[in-house]
Amino acid sequence: MILLLALATSMWAGRVSAQAPETEGQTPTSTVVAPGGKSQTEERMQQHRFWDKKNAWLFAGVGAARTFDYFSTLNLRRRGDQEILVTNDLVDNHAAFAVVEAAGTGVSIGASYLFHHYGHHKLERWTSIVHFGLTTSGAVRNYCLKTVHPRSTP
Ligand SMILES: [Zn+2]
Repeated sequence: MILLLALATSMWAGRVSAQAPETEGQTPTSTVVAPGGKSQTEERMQQHRFWDKKNAWLFAGVGAARTFDYFSTLNLRRRGDQEILVTNDLVDNHAAFAVVEAAGTGVSIGASYLFHHYGHHKLERWTSIVHFGLTTSGAVRNYCLKTVHPRSTP
Protein backbone atom coordinates (compact mmCIF):
# COMPACT_ATOMS: atom_id res chain seq x y z
CA MET A 1 0.00 0.00 0.00
CA ILE A 2 2.91 2.31 0.76
CA LEU A 3 4.27 1.42 -2.66
CA LEU A 4 0.98 2.41 -4.25
CA LEU A 5 1.04 5.76 -2.54
CA ALA A 6 4.64 6.38 -3.51
CA LEU A 7 3.82 5.49 -7.09
CA ALA A 8 0.86 7.82 -7.08
CA THR A 9 2.80 10.76 -5.76
CA SER A 10 5.74 10.24 -8.08
CA MET A 11 3.42 10.01 -11.06
CA TRP A 12 1.62 13.11 -9.91
CA ALA A 13 4.90 14.98 -9.60
CA GLY A 14 5.92 13.75 -13.04
CA ARG A 15 2.70 15.00 -14.52
CA VAL A 16 3.07 18.47 -13.08
CA SER A 17 6.67 18.87 -14.16
CA ALA A 18 6.05 17.48 -17.62
CA GLN A 19 3.04 19.61 -18.31
CA ALA A 20 4.79 22.86 -19.12
CA PRO A 21 6.27 22.21 -22.58
CA GLU A 22 3.21 20.34 -23.79
CA THR A 23 1.48 23.00 -25.87
CA GLU A 24 4.61 23.23 -28.00
CA GLY A 25 4.12 19.71 -29.34
CA GLN A 26 0.82 20.52 -30.98
CA THR A 27 1.65 20.69 -34.65
CA PRO A 28 -1.49 21.12 -36.75
CA THR A 29 -2.18 18.62 -39.50
CA SER A 30 1.15 18.40 -41.25
CA THR A 31 0.73 15.29 -43.35
CA VAL A 32 4.09 13.67 -42.93
CA VAL A 33 3.80 9.99 -43.71
CA ALA A 34 6.16 8.30 -41.32
CA PRO A 35 7.55 4.99 -42.59
CA GLY A 36 6.84 3.44 -39.20
CA GLY A 37 3.29 2.14 -38.99
CA LYS A 38 -0.08 3.40 -40.08
CA SER A 39 -1.69 3.17 -36.66
CA GLN A 40 1.17 5.12 -35.14
CA THR A 41 0.69 8.03 -37.55
CA GLU A 42 -3.06 7.90 -37.10
CA GLU A 43 -2.69 8.28 -33.38
CA ARG A 44 -0.16 11.06 -33.83
CA MET A 45 -2.63 12.92 -36.01
CA GLN A 46 -5.17 13.22 -33.23
CA GLN A 47 -2.86 15.07 -30.88
CA HIS A 48 -4.69 16.88 -28.17
CA ARG A 49 -4.03 18.61 -24.89
CA PHE A 50 -3.87 16.18 -21.98
CA TRP A 51 -6.38 18.19 -19.96
CA ASP A 52 -8.94 18.44 -22.70
CA LYS A 53 -12.67 18.25 -22.10
CA LYS A 54 -12.90 14.51 -22.63
CA ASN A 55 -10.15 13.66 -20.19
CA ALA A 56 -11.55 16.11 -17.64
CA TRP A 57 -14.87 14.26 -17.79
CA LEU A 58 -13.19 10.87 -17.68
CA PHE A 59 -11.10 11.80 -14.65
CA ALA A 60 -14.14 13.30 -12.97
CA GLY A 61 -15.89 10.00 -13.61
CA VAL A 62 -13.04 8.02 -12.08
CA GLY A 63 -13.02 10.31 -9.07
CA ALA A 64 -16.77 9.97 -8.68
CA ALA A 65 -16.56 6.19 -8.97
CA ARG A 66 -13.84 6.15 -6.32
CA THR A 67 -16.00 8.27 -4.03
CA PHE A 68 -18.91 5.94 -4.67
CA ASP A 69 -16.63 3.01 -3.76
CA TYR A 70 -15.54 4.82 -0.60
CA PHE A 71 -19.09 5.24 0.65
CA SER A 72 -20.21 1.82 -0.48
CA THR A 73 -17.34 0.23 1.43
CA LEU A 74 -18.14 2.21 4.57
CA ASN A 75 -21.75 1.15 4.16
CA LEU A 76 -20.57 -2.42 3.84
CA ARG A 77 -18.53 -2.13 7.02
CA ARG A 78 -21.44 -0.65 8.94
CA ARG A 79 -23.44 -3.70 8.02
CA GLY A 80 -20.74 -5.93 9.48
CA ASP A 81 -19.24 -7.34 6.30
CA GLN A 82 -15.54 -7.70 5.62
CA GLU A 83 -13.72 -5.68 3.03
CA ILE A 84 -11.68 -8.13 0.97
CA LEU A 85 -9.23 -5.87 -0.82
CA VAL A 86 -7.86 -3.86 2.09
CA THR A 87 -7.77 -4.54 5.80
CA ASN A 88 -10.69 -3.58 8.01
CA ASP A 89 -8.40 -1.40 10.10
CA LEU A 90 -7.65 0.72 7.07
CA VAL A 91 -11.28 1.08 6.05
CA ASP A 92 -12.31 1.94 9.59
CA ASN A 93 -9.72 4.69 9.59
CA HIS A 94 -11.83 6.83 7.29
CA ALA A 95 -9.23 9.50 6.56
CA ALA A 96 -6.59 6.97 5.55
CA PHE A 97 -9.08 5.08 3.45
CA ALA A 98 -10.09 8.29 1.69
CA VAL A 99 -6.41 8.89 0.89
CA VAL A 100 -6.17 5.42 -0.62
CA GLU A 101 -9.20 6.09 -2.79
CA ALA A 102 -7.74 9.42 -3.88
CA ALA A 103 -4.42 7.72 -4.62
CA GLY A 104 -6.28 5.27 -6.83
CA THR A 105 -7.59 8.19 -8.84
CA GLY A 106 -4.10 9.71 -8.96
CA VAL A 107 -2.53 6.50 -10.24
CA SER A 108 -5.21 6.25 -12.90
CA ILE A 109 -4.60 9.80 -14.09
CA GLY A 110 -0.85 9.18 -13.99
CA ALA A 111 -1.22 6.08 -16.16
CA SER A 112 -3.38 8.05 -18.60
CA TYR A 113 -0.74 10.71 -18.77
CA LEU A 114 1.99 8.18 -19.56
CA PHE A 115 -0.10 6.76 -22.41
CA HIS A 116 -0.80 10.27 -23.66
CA HIS A 117 2.87 11.19 -23.44
CA TYR A 118 3.91 8.23 -25.59
CA GLY A 119 1.13 8.80 -28.12
CA HIS A 120 -1.22 6.00 -27.09
CA HIS A 121 -4.31 8.17 -26.91
CA LYS A 122 -6.78 5.31 -27.14
CA LEU A 123 -5.17 3.48 -24.21
CA GLU A 124 -5.12 6.80 -22.41
CA ARG A 125 -8.91 7.07 -22.62
CA TRP A 126 -9.48 3.39 -21.94
CA THR A 127 -7.51 3.57 -18.71
CA SER A 128 -10.14 5.91 -17.29
CA ILE A 129 -13.07 4.06 -18.84
CA VAL A 130 -11.97 0.65 -17.53
CA HIS A 131 -11.09 2.07 -14.12
CA PHE A 132 -14.50 3.74 -13.94
CA GLY A 133 -16.26 0.53 -14.96
CA LEU A 134 -14.41 -1.72 -12.51
CA THR A 135 -14.71 0.67 -9.59
CA THR A 136 -18.40 1.32 -10.16
CA SER A 137 -19.27 -2.35 -10.48
CA GLY A 138 -17.23 -3.05 -7.35
CA ALA A 139 -19.13 -0.40 -5.46
CA VAL A 140 -22.47 -1.70 -6.67
CA ARG A 141 -21.39 -5.16 -5.59
CA ASN A 142 -20.63 -3.78 -2.13
CA TYR A 143 -24.21 -2.55 -1.84
CA CYS A 144 -25.56 -5.83 -3.14
CA LEU A 145 -23.72 -8.02 -0.64
CA LYS A 146 -25.93 -9.63 1.94
CA THR A 147 -26.12 -7.84 5.24
CA VAL A 148 -24.54 -9.94 7.96
CA HIS A 149 -26.84 -8.70 10.70
CA PRO A 150 -30.26 -8.61 9.11
CA ARG A 151 -32.98 -6.59 10.72
CA SER A 152 -35.08 -8.94 12.82
CA THR A 153 -38.59 -9.09 11.49
CA PRO A 154 -41.29 -9.00 14.17
ZN1 LIG B 1 -3.73 11.87 -25.43
